[in-house]
Amino acid sequence: MKIRVGNGYDIHRLVEGRSLILGGVKIPHHLGLDGHSDADVLTHAIMDGMLGALSLGDIGHYFPPTDPKWAGADSLLLLKQVDALIKSRGWQINNIDSVIVAERPKLKPHIKSMVAKLAQTLTLDCDRVGIKATTNEKLGPVGREEGICVHAVVLLVSD
Ligand code: MG
Repeated sequence: MKIRVGNGYDIHRLVEGRSLILGGVKIPHHLGLDGHSDADVLTHAIMDGMLGALSLGDIGHYFPPTDPKWAGADSLLLLKQVDALIKSRGWQINNIDSVIVAERPKLKPHIKSMVAKLAQTLTLDCDRVGIKATTNEKLGPVGREEGICVHAVVLLVSD
C-alpha cells in the first residue's frame, strides 16, 4: 500500500452581506466569508490538501477566481471534482484532519453537521473526517474577527 500526505491552508475575509458557509453548512452569523465562490474556507483547505498530496497544484489552478463559471460556486461540488481527480489516479482518502480558526461564532454546535456533509460528499465514514475549531485568542487579524482560516491535512492511500 502506498501513502501520501497533503497539507492545505486557506483564509477568507469576514464581511457583511455574505453567508457563512463552512463544510457546506450555512452557519447563522451577522458576517459571512468573502470570495469568488461560496468562500467555504474549510472545503477549500481540504481540497488543497488532497491536491497537495499528489503534487497536483492548488485549487486556484483548477477553479480560477478569474473564471465567471465559478462565481458563487458550491464548494462541495468542487470537492467532488477534486475527489474524482484523485480517484482517477488510483488514490483515495484515508482520513482528513482540520482545524478551523475563528474567534466567533462558536462552531462546536455545527461540527457534527460539517463532518456529515463532507463525509457524504466524499463517500467516507464520518470517523475519517476530523474537524476541530479553536479561537486565535484575540490575536492578529483572525483574533480581530477580520477573517477565518483553516489548516487541513489529508492522508491518501493507494493499493
Ligand atoms: Mg479559498
